[in-house]
Amino acid sequence: MNAKDFLRLGVPLGEATRRGTDFVSKFILGGGDKSRLHEEVKAIVANPSAFVDDPLRGEFAKTLLKAPPPPRAEPVKYRQWGEGLEHDAVMQMEKACLLPVSVAGALMPDAHVGYGLPIGGVLATENAVIPYAVGVDIACRMKMTVLDIPVRDLERKQDRLTRAIEAETRFGVGANFKHRREHEVMDADWSISGVTKQNKDRAWSQLGTSGSGNHFVEFGLFTAHSKINDLEAGTHVALLSHSGSRGTGAAVCDHYSKIAFSQFKDLPNELKRLAWLSLDSQEGQEYWNAMELMGRYAAANHACIHRHIAENLGAQVLLDLENHHNFAWKEKHVIDGVEREVVVHRKGATPAGQGILGIIPGSMASPGFVVSGKGNPESLDSASHGAGRAMSRKAANEKFNWKDVNRFLKQQGVTLISAGLDEVPMAYKNIREVMAAQNDLVTVLARPVRSEACEDGTQRGASGRLTV
Ligand SMILES: [Zn+2]
Repeated sequence: MNAKDFLRLGVPLGEATRRGTDFVSKFILGGGDKSRLHEEVKAIVANPSAFVDDPLRGEFAKTLLKAPPPPRAEPVKYRQWGEGLEHDAVMQMEKACLLPVSVAGALMPDAHVGYGLPIGGVLATENAVIPYAVGVDIACRMKMTVLDIPVRDLERKQDRLTRAIEAETRFGVGANFKHRREHEVMDADWSISGVTKQNKDRAWSQLGTSGSGNHFVEFGLFTAHSKINDLEAGTHVALLSHSGSRGTGAAVCDHYSKIAFSQFKDLPNELKRLAWLSLDSQEGQEYWNAMELMGRYAAANHACIHRHIAENLGAQVLLDLENHHNFAWKEKHVIDGVEREVVVHRKGATPAGQGILGIIPGSMASPGFVVSGKGNPESLDSASHGAGRAMSRKAANEKFNWKDVNRFLKQQGVTLISAGLDEVPMAYKNIREVMAAQNDLVTVLARPVRSEACEDGTQRGASGRLTV
């Protein structure tokens, strides 16, 4: 019997096939009837627990019990929003839908290639969580507060607003506060996993910081088309932030994804990065608890940023909205006509259940949107994260230069405090096209307008605003 025969009989490749081959050799050497081999293997595959104490079949049976179920022959069905998505991102989604634990999926119109699951990928699984379908920056979030600052101050007091951002958060890899911020999340139980326990001090030092990459804090105009919660329709000044769980979240992802990889060494290469943790396992529970703590921690980072900037400016908060992406939720969905509880991973995708408010940011020079979810079941109650990258960071760094970018930003009325070339507006898709492609997923309630305060010191200037 060769590997193909084993696969046909439902034996997963790798260790199980090796043990199967051992069993076949012993069976034949022991004088077993060769013509019965297929029947023998079939019987063990059908019910491995019945054979674990059998001297001849036991090892093979035990390995089968431990082996991951084989990938699906056909991907579970998923719908894609938007046109002309990157081929490789679509392929990543297809592969994720082949996982034996996958039950449903959806691909958002801002999708682009990620590690394992594409950014903009939504994946529902059965009783399993996939660290790389949550993402490295666990619980990355958007938060927007509308402040009672006069609209004219956005221009008149630009320096003052810039100073408030610079004083009350920190940008860059590893950025921290010398005088630590306070938040009740630091009183939570951080010993739920070895990683969170070890990183508690680092997490505290980074509390209220923003980090790097596409993370930002910015002021802009915000136009509500109608009343939102207690905020009247009209144009206001808003503070918008995007960041996640900093170094600690990355450490949680790193630790538990390695455990998941080591449990599923035999997964086919293209599925390796999507190795999962069963929620029945200790590691799965630890990861889940650590992920939830990272959710609270990321929310605390934003809470500190917004609270301190509002205090710095002596401003009152009129509206407060926020949402995670890069997270997994236990939710009930109707799948193949049956309602069931599943684990929904939204990697760079916004929760968009019926009436749920969310923020979908644009690029540095294009507006973001405040939206209300439509609860579209085919999207598993999701929408896009933002505009989505149109090219890789490397390609953007090679293609653009600050002279042209600055000219463009000036035309758009954007004042940039600081950013990397990989984050310039031209590296992103057109947010209006992305929004148009998902009008069955969300209703637009308002547009916050961008001005940028980003990381890493490659470009310094005043803070500012942008108008559309
Ligand atoms: Zn994010």
